[in-house]
Amino acid sequence: MKDLISVNQLELQDIEEIFGNARDYKNRYHSGETKFDDLRGKSVLLPFFESSTRTRTSFELAGKLLSADTINISGSSSSTTKGEILLDTIKTIEAMQSDFIVIRHYMSGAAHQVAKKVKSHVINAGDGANEHPSQALLDAFTILEHKEKFEGLKIAIVGDILHSRVARSDIKLFKKLGAEVTICGPLTMIPRYVDALNIDYFTTNVEEAIKDKDVVIFLRIQLERQSKVFFSTLNEYSIKYGLNQNRINLLKEDALIMHPGPVNRGVEMQSELVYGDRSLILDQVENGLFIRMGIYKFLMQNSE
Ligand code: ASP
Repeated sequence: MKDLISVNQLELQDIEEIFGNARDYKNRYHSGETKFDDLRGKSVLLPFFESSTRTRTSFELAGKLLSADTINISGSSSSTTKGEILLDTIKTIEAMQSDFIVIRHYMSGAAHQVAKKVKSHVINAGDGANEHPSQALLDAFTILEHKEKFEGLKIAIVGDILHSRVARSDIKLFKKLGAEVTICGPLTMIPRYVDALNIDYFTTNVEEAIKDKDVVIFLRIQLERQSKVFFSTLNEYSIKYGLNQNRINLLKEDALIMHPGPVNRGVEMQSELVYGDRSLILDQVENGLFIRMGIYKFLMQNSE
């Protein structure tokens, strides 16, 4: 496997291998080993055409911890603003002999298009509303740190399903691993092709969606992708779908609460719950680093 573009590419043994790599790096890191040689002499270029804090920083830091040279290219300061098409920008980047290109783009399918045209390993760090495979891997890895096995877990994903690449990748991965997946949100934010998503059921009632679940994942309202109005006000959304103390009381005692971030505080979750006792949000961020190290190693080993 040269590239990681979609969860569809991953077989169970690939997922296990990436998790194994991540676990190994995490254990060694926590035992004091803070620099690894696996990517020494390699370069990682990170063209990001959409904003990012967590994903870009963690792919960059993961590369640095593995001793790679990393270079950030931000969309707003690249030549695409001078009219250069994406492929020309990427061909230019490749000509600089990059071993890895970690790309985020606002167009669905962008990473796939790039991967077909370059020899470098391409990693999809989010393409429009389509996929975000490294986020799904880090979410599943984080869940597995708290639950014995994935098979049979009941997971609810709540919020802006329509515009969320995290939802699409999470659903695919969680189903592959044997979980039961429910989605929930306003009807306007449930895709028309919901049947093709391979979920177990969907509901517009958040209490029903979360009450018997082992894991509940709240998604950010993707205002930047919305050209229409999908609900009347953020306040109304929060009242109908946001996590608050009353809804926490409905959860199973050992239910895990997650959010890929960034959180619209007071919309998807009440502010004081963001880093509350049950929230794994910071664990997701930390595990993102080790999962991304695991992905680099996996691609290097499996394409040589
Ligand atoms: N950080 C995630 C993404 O890039 C989730 C989000 O932005 O809402 O898709």
